Amino acid sequence: MNDRLVALAAAAQRELETAVAPEAVEQLRVKYLGKKGELAAILGGMGKLPPDERRALGEKANAVKAELETKISAAITRVQELALEQELKGPRLDVTLPGRGHALGRRHPVSQTLEDICGVFSRLGFVVEHGPEIELDWYNFEALNVPADHPARDMQDTFYVDGGSLHAGFAHTNPVVLRTHTSPVQIRTMLAQKPPVRAVMPGRVYRKDSDQTHTPMFHQVEGLLVDQKVTFAELKGTLDAFAKAFFGAKSKTRFRPSFFPFTEPSAEVDVSCVFCGGKGCRVCKQTGWIEVLGSGMVHPNVFRHAGYDPAEVTGFAFGMGVERLAMLRYGIDDLRTMFENDYRFVAQF
Ligand SMILES: [Zn+2]
Repeated sequence: MNDRLVALAAAAQRELETAVAPEAVEQLRVKYLGKKGELAAILGGMGKLPPDERRALGEKANAVKAELETKISAAITRVQELALEQELKGPRLDVTLPGRGHALGRRHPVSQTLEDICGVFSRLGFVVEHGPEIELDWYNFEALNVPADHPARDMQDTFYVDGGSLHAGFAHTNPVVLRTHTSPVQIRTMLAQKPPVRAVMPGRVYRKDSDQTHTPMFHQVEGLLVDQKVTFAELKGTLDAFAKAFFGAKSKTRFRPSFFPFTEPSAEVDVSCVFCGGKGCRVCKQTGWIEVLGSGMVHPNVFRHAGYDPAEVTGFAFGMGVERLAMLRYGIDDLRTMFENDYRFVAQF
């Protein structure tokens, strides 16, 4: 039996020296020292021996076991170092390569433009108000002087949400829509506070259009100023100040008569072309002017729906498409690129 122990120690030693992987070392540990391993097998036969031989053999077995344990942990250290060395030498890791670094993110041109617009009006004393994107038909259309049969609804066809809501204060079930403009926030703001009001309302709006210049979702900023004896001259002065702050100090504005159901009188506002300075170019179709927003004096019916007395207060409102201003500012020619989520596009601004 002593011979078997000596042979076992020698065999284990040889096999450990040739092992090159941690798994192989573990297999050897199980083979020699495991519960069903070779050392256990030898010790299992010790019961038949006389007591003094048994003690001598036990001591020898313990010595072999301790020696093997030491050699196994040495072998583990050796194969781990070997693995690390190969990893460092191998083609998978070249420590001399420059680091990858982290690219800095960019704010989307729509976000930048939205913040810039609100920033200009903040400096003019306007506060920022928000409202729901899923809106009752009443706030989106009727309160803004657009009754159910009004032709203006065709231009603002939108997405209807299933169900509808029997809202407190409505005689009939009120359809639920995705808002087509930020104007319902004007109504909500006026219903929530007494005049004077001086607020801008930024946010997403929805319409049933999709082509090179329309996307089903886009952004607007709406503005509302209500007080006693507010005049059209103040509307013009405010929007001219905005155009100069946003497009540059040399920008000029012009107002053209227009129609919106919620303002009377109404005007489209053009700004002198930012590309040619008003001389005429392809972008402004040789006119020297670019249409940037709609505006007007708040219609008395809108005041009545919002609980204000049109005999007491007057006001003006305006609204602009954020994507359109971003496209003008950055020279983007296809609206849809704004929403394709391609980082290479966003990284340019
Ligand atoms: Zn031009």
